[in-house]
Amino acid sequence: MSDETPGKAAKHKSAMQKQQANVDASIEAATIERGVAILLTGNGKGKSSSAFGMVMRALGYNHKVGVIQFIKGELLSGEEIYLRERCPQVDFYQMGTGFTWNTQDRNVDIAAARKTWAIAKPMLQDDSYNLVVLDELTYMLAYDYLSETEVVEAIRDRPVEQSVIITGRGGGSALQEVVDTVSEVKEVKHAFRAGIKARRGVDY
Ligand code: ATP
Ligand code: MG
Repeated sequence: MSDETPGKAAKHKSAMQKQQANVDASIEAATIERGVAILLTGNGKGKSSSAFGMVMRALGYNHKVGVIQFIKGELLSGEEIYLRERCPQVDFYQMGTGFTWNTQDRNVDIAAARKTWAIAKPMLQDDSYNLVVLDELTYMLAYDYLSETEVVEAIRDRPVEQSVIITGRGGGSALQEVVDTVSEVKEVKHAFRAGIKARRGVDY
């Protein structure tokens, strides 16, 4: 821009060079090759959709993907339709019962959670899976439907090359500790609060 002083441009260039050097050094320092465990948490929108974004990335490389959803909402979701109907190569499983405020029966929920975990656990032991998504798993731990120790150990002991994504609000310290990456999606604003209805293809 013509109204920029030469001094400002030089300062910018020097700052950018420093930043580039820092980035280069960090890239060089990261030498470990292995799968990663990621926890996507927080009260904002974007946890599950981020996980499904990574599913798409993995599929781009023909990676083997397993998706386990630990809730079943009232509504069918776009990701469920897409994966079930058009991605037979993705192993998709959904818990298949309403959430607790639908069933209001803790024992039914526990049985459903354990049945679902019985599908997820072998995936975490199978090195043919490159990516396993455990969508909304944190609630199963929060409600004590599943043993935190068992879940944490399964994540820790999974095949070296396998990546795993866990979504859901909360997620205790043991889970945070065993994973490599924790991202917290913070609600700054949500359309729902302005009375806008959940939208097909955006929210579900
Ligand atoms: P998404 O699936 O859109 O990435 P999410 O996984 O981060 O959302 P969940 O708690 O699983 O969030 O909720 C799923 C649904 O609830 C979506 O329809 C989403 O738009 C909506 N939602 C997410 N966060 C909020 C919020 N803070 N207030 C109201 N609705 C929300
Ligand atoms: Mg979600």
